[in-house]
Amino acid sequence: MNIAFIDYSLDIECPHCKQEIDLVEYESNSGENFLSRQIFTSKWDDISGYLVECPHCHNDFQIDKVEY
Ligand SMILES: [Zn+2]
Repeated sequence: MNIAFIDYSLDIECPHCKQEIDLVEYESNSGENFLSRQIFTSKWDDISGYLVECPHCHNDFQIDKVEY
């Protein structure tokens, strides 16, 4: 059987420490799927304002916009 797998990432740079964060990995580590759900249902606007705690420097910041 030939099975196709989706491999995707949602990358953002932390405004505090400038490190790259993959939000898909970030989210799955906390057991949530809000971001992936919004991406796959094209509700990208709902992601604006989502609060991320940087796993590197532990400062909070908001996602303003999703682009591809
Ligand atoms: Zn950071």
